[in-house]
Amino acid sequence: MRKTLSSPAVVSGVGLHTGVPATMTFKPADNGITFLRTDIAGAKPIAAHVNSVSSTLRGTNLKNETAEVWTVEHALSALHALGITDAAVEMDGPEPPVTDGASDLYIEALQKAGLKELPAEQPLLNIKQKITYSSGNISYSAEPADKLTFTFLFLHKHPLVSRQEFTLEFTPENYIKEISRARTFGFEEELAFLKAHGLAKGGNLENAVIVGKDKFINELRYPDELVRHKILDLVGDLSLTGRKLPPLKITCACGGHKHNIIFAKILLANSEDK
Ligand SMILES: [Zn+2]
Repeated sequence: MRKTLSSPAVVSGVGLHTGVPATMTFKPADNGITFLRTDIAGAKPIAAHVNSVSSTLRGTNLKNETAEVWTVEHALSALHALGITDAAVEMDGPEPPVTDGASDLYIEALQKAGLKELPAEQPLLNIKQKITYSSGNISYSAEPADKLTFTFLFLHKHPLVSRQEFTLEFTPENYIKEISRARTFGFEEELAFLKAHGLAKGGNLENAVIVGKDKFINELRYPDELVRHKILDLVGDLSLTGRKLPPLKITCACGGHKHNIIFAKILLANSEDK
């Protein structure tokens, strides 16, 4: 069944990259997930769909002819984890609040607002055979299975986080427990570069895991928090197919937003819709 909110949910705070404060209000709806910039006169709602993706530089940004929203993947991940298929999301700024860098505070706000079922089904992403995609050392696959799982392999040249692998059996309970508290992350050595490029302006030790030269600068919430956050992002990005994910074994090695979106488009193109 499709699902929406039974009353509005509100989350406020500064955005991760822009550092600009915004209040995000999730309202009941019945025409998918849309983002409306209420701070822009004449802005029209932007559909949460892979075809709206405008950029994937350190986040997934969406736009239409009237407006753009930045870094929507954590909010989308929380919506998808709770099975919310329909919500009119209003924002009075360009970017969702980074909150604690994860999706748990979104989950909390959405659950508090309450959910309700809609009398319709979300169309299925109908994958009947194994689909693969790779680019250099990055690879993805999805194949029919008994249940929906996401497996991610994270590899990095930094010795502290050289290899992390995690599999999520996708249920709201598992997501909330194993994934929702995993924060975004950055490497101490790249912070200056990010700030110089106008990114991570809202990032700090309260909302991001910072990997230093030979130690983590802040305390971890999970020993393998980085790969868990990569799954959080992947869940948000793949929700942009706008389809219900059937039981699939989904794997990803070394991917990020750019390739998540390419893979989402490939999955959509391979959905055997009848
Ligand atoms: Zn993220």
